[in-house]
Parts: sequence; C-alpha cells; structure tokens
Amino acid sequence: MSEAQTPYDKAAEEAVELGNRLANTDEDADLWDLADGLLAGAIQYWLYTRQPCGDPQCQDCGPICTADLRLQALHEAVDELARSSEYFHAPTDFDAGRA
Ligand SMILES: [Zn+2]
Repeated sequence: MSEAQTPYDKAAEEAVELGNRLANTDEDADLWDLADGLLAGAIQYWLYTRQPCGDPQCQDCGPICTADLRLQALHEAVDELARSSEYFHAPTDFDAGRA
C-alpha cells in the first residue's frame, strides 16, 4: 500500500479488500449479501459523519442540515460514484453494443 494514498483512496481500497477477505473466508457467502452489508455499513458511516454541528449559520452544514438534504447529497454521491465505476457498464448488459 502506497504511503501517498489519501484517506479517501485508503478507505475505498480497504472496503474492497474487506469484501474480498469476507468472500474468501466464507466461500458459501452470497457476494450480493456481502456487498449489501458493505453498502449498509458505508451508508451508516457516511450519515454518521454528516450530522450537522447545530450552528444555524454554519456554511459547511447548510447543504446537509436536514435528513432530506442529507439523503439528496447521498443520492448525488452514489450516482456519481456508480457512473464513474469501471463496473458501471458490463459487456453482458442487455443494452450492450447497441449504442
Ligand atoms: Zn456545521
């Protein structure tokens, strides 16, 4: 693991490694279940870190100062991350090769 990794890169890499480790530990595990569990934990942690500080004037917390705004921010992050993933498009997609 590189010393120059950002906390973002390190967290993303370790999440994938955790998934691989759990899959290797339990060969009967359903990979979709493992992935859903990783996602549940990631969302829990993301929401935990986005709790507003309570200062109504805080500019950092303004965009995430209600549950609905946090959910909107989470949806935007998920959309961006999914669309930028190398696995977003699959050669086996039903609409593959029809562009
Ligand atoms: Zn704040």
